[in-house]
Parts: sequence; C-alpha cells; structure tokens
Amino acid sequence: MAKCTFCGREYEAPYGLTEFDTTGHTRHYCSSKCRKNFKMRRESDKVKWTSIYHEKKKAEKHPKEHVKK
Ligand SMILES: [Zn+2]
Repeated sequence: MAKCTFCGREYEAPYGLTEFDTTGHTRHYCSSKCRKNFKMRRESDKVKWTSIYHEKKKAEKHPKEHVKK
C-alpha cells in the first residue's frame, strides 16, 4: 500500500507511479494527474479533488472531531 504524495489517497501497487529524486526521497503518485499537479507546485489542500482537501474541509467543519493525538 502506497500513499499518494500529492492527494493523500492510498492505493495498491502496481497502480500509480513512484519517483526518486536526487536527495534520496521517494514520492508516490496514484496517477499521472497527481504527478503533474505536484510538478506544477499546486497545493494539494487547495485542489478540490484531493483527499487532503476533503480532510481539511471536514476539520474546519468539525474541529473537535479532528483532535487526535
Ligand atoms: Zn493522488
């Protein structure tokens, strides 16, 4: 199970793309769409179709439910 670096969605291998950068970091993308958006330096919490965006919206609506530590 890999988690998409951009949208935060979990997906099963062999779907998606894995990318290694020069600093030794690994990035996972569930689709080329996510990869493109990441390259464009989009902020995933501002892009409506990402699960990160939805989680943020949910946290704003129900701030108490989001407190997990
Ligand atoms: Zn993704």
